[in-house]
Amino acid sequence: MSSTLITGGTIIDCTGAKPKKNTAIFIENGRIAKIGASDALKAHALKRGTHKTIDAAGMTVMPGLIDAHCHVSYGDIGSVEELDLYTGVEFRAIRAAYNVKKVLRAGVTAMCDPGSTWNISVAVRDAINCGMIEGPRMASAGRYITTFNAIGSFWPTWMEHPRSSFAVLCNTRDEMITEVRREVKEGVDIVKVAGDGDAVQSHARESEGSLSLDDLRAIAETTHRLGRRCTIHARTGVVAAAAAEAGFDWLIHASYLNDAQLATILRTKTPINPTLSLLANAVDWAPELGAPTGMIDAYKRELEAAGKCLSKAHKEGIMMMAGTDSGQGAVPYGEWHARELEHLMNYLGLSAMEALKAGTINAAFATGMQDEIGTLTEGKFADLLVVDGDPLADIQVLQAKARLKVIMKGGEVVDTKTPLPERTVYAWEKPMLYWNDPRLPGQDYVREHAAKKPAWMKKKETRRAAE
Ligand SMILES: [Zn+2]
Repeated sequence: MSSTLITGGTIIDCTGAKPKKNTAIFIENGRIAKIGASDALKAHALKRGTHKTIDAAGMTVMPGLIDAHCHVSYGDIGSVEELDLYTGVEFRAIRAAYNVKKVLRAGVTAMCDPGSTWNISVAVRDAINCGMIEGPRMASAGRYITTFNAIGSFWPTWMEHPRSSFAVLCNTRDEMITEVRREVKEGVDIVKVAGDGDAVQSHARESEGSLSLDDLRAIAETTHRLGRRCTIHARTGVVAAAAAEAGFDWLIHASYLNDAQLATILRTKTPINPTLSLLANAVDWAPELGAPTGMIDAYKRELEAAGKCLSKAHKEGIMMMAGTDSGQGAVPYGEWHARELEHLMNYLGLSAMEALKAGTINAAFATGMQDEIGTLTEGKFADLLVVDGDPLADIQVLQAKARLKVIMKGGEVVDTKTPLPERTVYAWEKPMLYWNDPRLPGQDYVREHAAKKPAWMKKKETRRAAE
């Protein structure tokens, strides 16, 4: 494997240390071998033999971004039907292999996938790790463990829960434990639980949650005994606090915490991945696209609530991890990963440095690889970005792909020049709607025109008259 010297840049190592100007990084065998003053390191690199040099003068060198919440198997879905029903496992897996490249090319060198249809996330992770396909380092969950009363159970009770769903129905504690065992056998890093509903479901904020503390304890205990970690979709405070109490490793969302629930999380010191991107994108742009106001209002309410309680949690020292929920239609792959850092500053009051840590070393916690990635530290993997600009002065520079001059994973520069093949979307990936086009005539039109016969009918009649 080749060696590389990156010279002259300002290093933000994301350990919390101040930026270091004119500092070099020497990379050997995919890892950061040495960090030091540019001149001294040039001499050291020469002694080590042939190597490539990257001139980062005037630029920032920082760890690669880490997205704590990206679903590779979803496929930028716009509906639950697309998520759960359409597209078989074979095409879905290949589509995921295509989409992870977009994630990597956005500067995301590692990610956590907290929930997959089939077992696609694990397969994509393994294909990346053995060098078959290009993508970020991944930590993977299987299907969510859900009940009739949480996300994932979208289908009416009179039909069988589909095998292709992103969730598996487990309404009893025994079923939950069995599912944890199955998923661990199938190679997951993470067990994901659906703890409650969604922002658009009116019951979400009041929900008591369908899982008892004992249910949650049983899941956490089994997961940990098998050497894995667990996380939970918990928008409501009651579920978030119960999961923290039960020993879940981190919480996803936790948007509606009252003071008592926050106190539980402060006591257990459970990290939180708020995932504001999906909500913020809906609030910022969905109105123009004609999205239903009920949905937009629900997202707005949740953003405001999350901003209030999670900024308190952050001030009290709870670790915040950046994650975007990419793979949902409102948050497509490769587009929004870096913007979550801006949301964390805007809604939760993080400083730019804190936001950078949220999107690197903190998010690394969700991958379980925090000792190997997430900071620029000697011995860690050389997963890094050379950025044309200073993200501490303007966090938005990370959102401009043209400013990411080098994306490096494991010491290898990612090819961002060769364009990815453009794809078209098949009709069978989408829901089957018979009459949803507003350009088609409504009933009023039909009634008005029923008297006048359509042209083809008239033609037939003239022919008949002529016979
Ligand atoms: Zn998600």
